[in-house]
Amino acid sequence: MEILRTVAELRQWSRTLRIDARNDGRNLIGLVPTMGALHAGHASLIRAAKASVGFVAVSIFVNPTQFGPNEDYSRYPRSFEADCALAQAEGADVVFAPTVEELYPAGAATFVEVEGLGNRLDGASRPGHFRGVATVVAKLLIATEADRAFFGQKDAAQVALLRRMVADLRLPAEIVVCPIVREPDGLALSSRNLYLSPAERNQALTLSRAIRQVEALLASGERHSSALIASARQTFATEPAIRIDYIALVDWTTLEPVEDATPGSLFAVAAWVGSTRLIDNTILG
Ligand code: AMP
Repeated sequence: MEILRTVAELRQWSRTLRIDARNDGRNLIGLVPTMGALHAGHASLIRAAKASVGFVAVSIFVNPTQFGPNEDYSRYPRSFEADCALAQAEGADVVFAPTVEELYPAGAATFVEVEGLGNRLDGASRPGHFRGVATVVAKLLIATEADRAFFGQKDAAQVALLRRMVADLRLPAEIVVCPIVREPDGLALSSRNLYLSPAERNQALTLSRAIRQVEALLASGERHSSALIASARQTFATEPAIRIDYIALVDWTTLEPVEDATPGSLFAVAAWVGSTRLIDNTILG
């Protein structure tokens, strides 16, 4: 597995493979964008990519533009060597690990703004976050010329935003969504789980408990937004140490609230456990 540092190297890697492999049917290129601190959730994306395309690039880049001024950019966990070992073990062909200056050259003034969607859910709580996400993913898709890009359902609002962006910019990439990978007790894997103290780790289970409870209600036929949201609020009420950011039932394409859950509805929660913001969700199949 190679480690590439510049956009030029990444583009050359991708273009050379395409020419060499043009006729063997396995010439599709996949991209798995990450911020590193890789865990089994990221591993599942790399495996899905490897099963679906011939060549896989995993990007590891803590993207400064998607963090607010008082967020955790500087203390975000970084574990590059272990990340490379995991990426290689899962079959990645290259790791792309650029510097900030490489992706944002001096004087960079071009950003991708997805209007509407960019200000909903996490975009409402974290102003500018989705602008940073859309910008960096656009840069990565353009650099790799990827045919498919793999994302986790854990960041379901991000997926909606990126689908809109890819359609609007007519990028030739398909967005593939992979299921949420959880700890045995239900907690959705997240690089930010590393911030949790043992007590907070326990409190954090409230998110997945709320989601499971909503899934049970949905399975029983309940569809009303108010009932589903009330149920999640009740679950959160059992853990006063947690501060709810949002609980919402939305259309997964537009991220606009809906009155009744239908196939394609996204039920999502975000909450603060101490100083750590965590998210979880379920999608009505
Ligand atoms: P991050 O490194 O947090 O930016 O995440 C990179 C990618 O991994 C995103 O597409 C996430 O949705 C995905 N991801 C993070 N956690 C999980 C998880 N528990 N299960 C599946 N995918 C995940």
